[in-house]
Amino acid sequence: MVDLKGQYEEIKDIVNTSVIDVIESTAFINGPEVHSFQKNLEDYLGLKHVIPCANGTDALQIAMMGLGLQPGDEVITADFTFAATVEVIALLQLTPVLVDVEPDTFNIDVFAIKKAITPKTKAIVPVHLFGQCANMDAIMDIAEAHDLFVIEDNAQAIGATYTSKDGSKASAGTIGHVASTSFFPSKNLGCYGDGGAIFTNDDELAHTLRGIVNHGMYKRYHHDVVGVNSRLDSIQAAVLNAKLPNLDTYNKARQDAARKYNHAFKGIKNVIIPKSGKACKELCDNCDCHVFHQYTLKIIGADRDALAKHLNDKGIPCGVYYPIPLHNQKAYKDSRYNEDDFTVTNQLVNEVISLPMHTELDDEQIEFITSTIIKFVDG
Ligand SMILES: *Cc1c(COP(=O)(O)O)cnc(C)c1O
Repeated sequence: MVDLKGQYEEIKDIVNTSVIDVIESTAFINGPEVHSFQKNLEDYLGLKHVIPCANGTDALQIAMMGLGLQPGDEVITADFTFAATVEVIALLQLTPVLVDVEPDTFNIDVFAIKKAITPKTKAIVPVHLFGQCANMDAIMDIAEAHDLFVIEDNAQAIGATYTSKDGSKASAGTIGHVASTSFFPSKNLGCYGDGGAIFTNDDELAHTLRGIVNHGMYKRYHHDVVGVNSRLDSIQAAVLNAKLPNLDTYNKARQDAARKYNHAFKGIKNVIIPKSGKACKELCDNCDCHVFHQYTLKIIGADRDALAKHLNDKGIPCGVYYPIPLHNQKAYKDSRYNEDDFTVTNQLVNEVISLPMHTELDDEQIEFITSTIIKFVDG
C-alpha cells in the first residue's frame, strides 16, 4: 500500500546525517530538532501553535483535555473513521455521538450533526477522511450557533487546503478551535516511528496544552492540572524536519497518481472514483483540496470482497477502510443508536476499497492495478 523504502532512498543522506547528529548530541528528548520542527510546521501551516506529542491518538485526547470537556459531555463524530477518534472520547468518559457520513466524500454529514445536537453537546470532531477536509464552513457555522468546540482530526489530510465559500483558503487543521495530526509512518507526513501534534491559533489553549503534554507542569515540579506524558522524540523530529520540505511534492505525487487512477477508471461502470468536495468538482491541476492519504473507490454492482481477494492473488495490495461501522463495534455499541441513521456508513463498509497510494507509484504499476480491476469488474 505504501513504499516507505523507495521514499527513504531519495532522502537517505539528509535523514541519516540528522539522525546521527541527534544521537551524537544526546539531546533525545525535547532537543533542538523538536523545537525547530515545531517552528517549521507552524510556518508551513500558517498557524500560531504546534504542540508536538507522541502520536495522533494522544493528540486528540490532549486536545479534548485542553478544552476542559467533562464526563458526560457529548461529542459528535463520524461513524466512518478510524477508531482512535471515538476511543479517546470514550476514554475521557465523554459521550461519543456517532453520526452518518456523506456518500460521495465519506466525510461527516452536516445534516446528521444538526440532528444529533442536544443540550449536552459540547464538541464536534470532523475527521478529514482520506485526505480531504470535511465541510468546515457548515461545521463552523453550526458550532458557532450552538457554542460548540470544533476539533479537527487531521491525521489524514496534512497539507490539504480548504477553500471556504468566500474564496479564502486555509490549511487543513487550522480552521477549528484545535486540531490533531499523526506522523505514523504511512501518513502523508510520516516519521520513522510514532509521532503526533496538536494545532491551535488560541494562545491560552496552546499554553494549557503545553502543560498537559508534560505532566500538567507549567513550572518545574508544580503540577497544576492532571496531565500526561506525551512527547515527540528528537530522532523523529529530525526525520520530520528532513521530510517537511518535501511534503507538497509528496502530496503532488499522490494527486498525480490519483489523476491517473481516475483517468483509467473513467466510464467503467461498477467503479465509482473518489469525489473531491464542493470547492473542487474535479481534481484540477492546481488544487490541494484532496491530498489522497487513501485513494478509495466504491465498487457498485460487483463483489467488492471477491475483487479484494483477486487483487491479493495478483500481488496487488489493497485495503478496506473501514470494514465495520464504529456504531456496530462491540466497544462502541449504544442502545441510543438507530440503524436507520447510518444508511450511508452501513453501505460504504460493503463498497469501499483503497488502492496502493504513495509517493513512488509509477505508470506501469498504475496500469497493472487499474487493468486488473477493470478486467475483473467488467469481465
Ligand atoms: C492514524 C489516525 C489516527 C491516530 O494516529 P496515531 O498516530 O496512529 O495514534 C487518528 N485518527 C485518524 C483518522 C487516523 O487516520
